[in-house]
Amino acid sequence: MLKGKSALVTGASRGIGRAIAIELARQGVNVAVNFAGNAEKAEEVVAEIKALGSQAFAIKADVANSEEVAAMVKETVDAFGSLDILVNNAGITRDGLIMRMKEDDWDAVINTNLKGVFNCAKAVTRQMMKQRYGRIINISSVVGVLGNAGQANYVAAKAGVIGLTKTLARELANRNINVNAVAPGFIETDMTNELSEDIKQELLKQIPLAKLGKAEDIAAVVRFLVSEDANYMTGQTLHVDGGMVM
Ligand code: NAD
Repeated sequence: MLKGKSALVTGASRGIGRAIAIELARQGVNVAVNFAGNAEKAEEVVAEIKALGSQAFAIKADVANSEEVAAMVKETVDAFGSLDILVNNAGITRDGLIMRMKEDDWDAVINTNLKGVFNCAKAVTRQMMKQRYGRIINISSVVGVLGNAGQANYVAAKAGVIGLTKTLARELANRNINVNAVAPGFIETDMTNELSEDIKQELLKQIPLAKLGKAEDIAAVVRFLVSEDANYMTGQTLHVDGGMVM
């Protein structure tokens, strides 16, 4: 049912974004693969998508930069003739306890993880309103609900994403644009590979299902949220976290 639709996935050269881009392609969606730094990895994702029979291209843009985002959205609409699905996935961490967190660490994380969502959502809105159709999925995090020592910047951004999701959902509902969030728990990606074995063992104790998730677990829920099965859902945050939040 998604065949022929078009999507832009931010931060899609690896990890969760990559899994989402490939899952959408499996459903017949054409995908713009946004990346910030690693063009080679992004081209690998493009090749995988093309092998699945969908169209794809890689596009470099910093989601924190509104001009680059506007150009990226224009290029996507020019290439596919529409923009039906936006997945705001790009994100970074710069952890540290509040006493030691530098202003620059705060700004960088807020600008990428929260302002980036604002920039991309703002840039697609006119096109989606014109189409009277759109599906926006924002990737938040379990810590945006629970809080997490050492991540004041990241937690504030991810909690902000949940509030932004609800507001966009209310603003855009009458144009058939649904806006939902997914809040992953701890997922095996480059982001969590950096954690020490001790921290991973501690984390496992907090996860009722007693295992880390996979990028594909998040991609499956995004697939559901952009499908017709989720047509009557907007403003929601789905927790995909092994039961951490319940
Ligand atoms: P990752 O580091 O593997 O991937 C993040 C991607 O975002 C990278 O490709 C990176 O290049 C890209 N990116 C970073 N800054 C960017 C920018 N300014 N513009 C464009 N792209 C940029 O991490 P991941 O684990 O795949 O995380 C994906 C999303 O899921 C993030 O928003 C993250 O906060 C969220 N998340 C991850 C976990 C987890 O356990 N891995 C848990 C909760 C939420």
